[in-house]
Amino acid sequence: MLSTMQDVPLTVTRILRHGMTVHGTSQVTTWTGGSEPQRRSFAEVGARAAQLAHALRGLGVGEGDVTGTLMWNNSEHVEAYFAVPSMGAVLHTLNLRLPADQLSYIARHAGDKVILVNGSLAGLLLPLLPDLPQLEHVVVSGAVADEARAALSAASGVRVHEYEELLAGHPTAYDWPELDERRAASLCYTSGTTGEPKGVAYSHRSIYLHSMQVNMAESMGLTDADLSLVIVPQFHCNSWGLPHAAFMTGINMLMPDRFLQPAPLAEMIERERPTHAAAVPTIWQGLLAELTAKPRDVSTLTQVTIGGSACPPSLMKAFDELGMRVFHAWGMTETSPLGTVARPPATVAPGSEEEFAYRLTQGRFPAGVEGRLVGPGGEVLPWDGASAGELEVRGPWVTGAYVGGVEGESTRPADKFSEDGWLKTGDVGTISPDGYLTLTDRAKDVIKSGGEWISSVELENVLMSHPDIAEAAVVAVPDEKWGERPLATVVFRDGASADFLALREHLASNGIARWQLPERWAVVAEVPKTSVGKFNKKVLRGRFAEGALQVVRV
Ligand code: ADP
Repeated sequence: MLSTMQDVPLTVTRILRHGMTVHGTSQVTTWTGGSEPQRRSFAEVGARAAQLAHALRGLGVGEGDVTGTLMWNNSEHVEAYFAVPSMGAVLHTLNLRLPADQLSYIARHAGDKVILVNGSLAGLLLPLLPDLPQLEHVVVSGAVADEARAALSAASGVRVHEYEELLAGHPTAYDWPELDERRAASLCYTSGTTGEPKGVAYSHRSIYLHSMQVNMAESMGLTDADLSLVIVPQFHCNSWGLPHAAFMTGINMLMPDRFLQPAPLAEMIERERPTHAAAVPTIWQGLLAELTAKPRDVSTLTQVTIGGSACPPSLMKAFDELGMRVFHAWGMTETSPLGTVARPPATVAPGSEEEFAYRLTQGRFPAGVEGRLVGPGGEVLPWDGASAGELEVRGPWVTGAYVGGVEGESTRPADKFSEDGWLKTGDVGTISPDGYLTLTDRAKDVIKSGGEWISSVELENVLMSHPDIAEAAVVAVPDEKWGERPLATVVFRDGASADFLALREHLASNGIARWQLPERWAVVAEVPKTSVGKFNKKVLRGRFAEGALQVVRV
């Protein structure tokens, strides 16, 4: 029997229409660094999105054309989030932290025809222009330095426009087309932590379903009573889906623009009083140091979503003490990104050790994401909390391929997709009988010592719980006898002395087996970070190979 239900397409347009009417009074607040932030209601953002769509159509953007953004988190970027997909074009968020060669590769690969750029980032775009033959228009939003403006205007092959001038005079309503929900709405490239950046094209349908999941109580569960400080960049998996989720339920958004340093973030929290915030662990480490040095009233911020890399237990504890409850989440660009969220089961006592252990896992799978662990011989492993294997996932907001290039063909490399269509995540871990995922490492970071595996993340977490250590990253280095051994690179806090023997003892007394203890140590000024703020182990391994690290053996 066929169902009797209406087949209404699930599109970004529906989210936009809903947000700007039913939640028209919710706000997008953008930090300006001045005394007053910029404040716009969802109704205004929706009206401006319509103006932007008219303007882009005037520039020749048609169905399926790719419009790039090189922007911070701000209201104009939210306007582009809704205008571009709703008019039937494809939004491509460019990662402004990538080196120039990768950025131009990605913009060319995606076929960006128009790029919206914040004035403060014009200098970043300029050197890319000669490598972007397909680019026709650049739209600059916000103040731009005279020099950069002059250089942009002189650039050959592109026409330069000012965002507000381009919008001015256009109608504040747009006759949005009825779109097929399976069409691409936006493009995001992986940050290339372990390989070349690869493009993922989210569909209208996948964004719609993912937004509903973000809003479920078992995920972020926010409402129009909340103000979310969206620190995770809009170019990093659509800010983990927050802007779309916000237009569904009216969550107010506080956008930090370019003010991502710990001091302005702390000021934003004190002045604007958000109830929720989302960012990778390195941002929270910085904020914690700032709040310790200069305490602020952060009492409204009771819920914090951390993901992107493993949250060190010491960080979670420190935030608990500040009254901020951390929710650990796992995901990937390929999974939109919400994969799992660590909400403990209702049966465990709040504040108990058992509850803390649940919160440290990567979390439970939602109904929309299926997970399985696969062993080295391709066998599917049981959910017994002990059998470790590579995590594979599938679901309606998990990608089934990568974008192939300007021709639009997709690719399905065998190391990323199983024969039966599951995404191979490259993450290694266990799943408990009640469905909680615990990742021990990325497959590429795991240390293979004498046929046994050592988790680099576990060593890092214990090291970072030591009071003398600000940051620690552990990588595998070649070893004649064991194949690979761990090299621990550490950043000491001011005034601490480099006592590696004491650190080995600290590891041993915190549950690390003797044979896993690193004998190679190096002090670094800072752990190198990727474009989305993760420890960059590729760079560390490279430095070791070049002999650029001063390695001490203990
Ligand atoms: P890249 O792979 O280039 O870093 P992504 O931002 O898509 O780009 O990263 C996804 C990866 O980040 C995951 O496969 C996983 O290794 C890591 N990750 C994300 N969240 C967590 C988490 N909560 N704990 C541990 N690792 C995480």
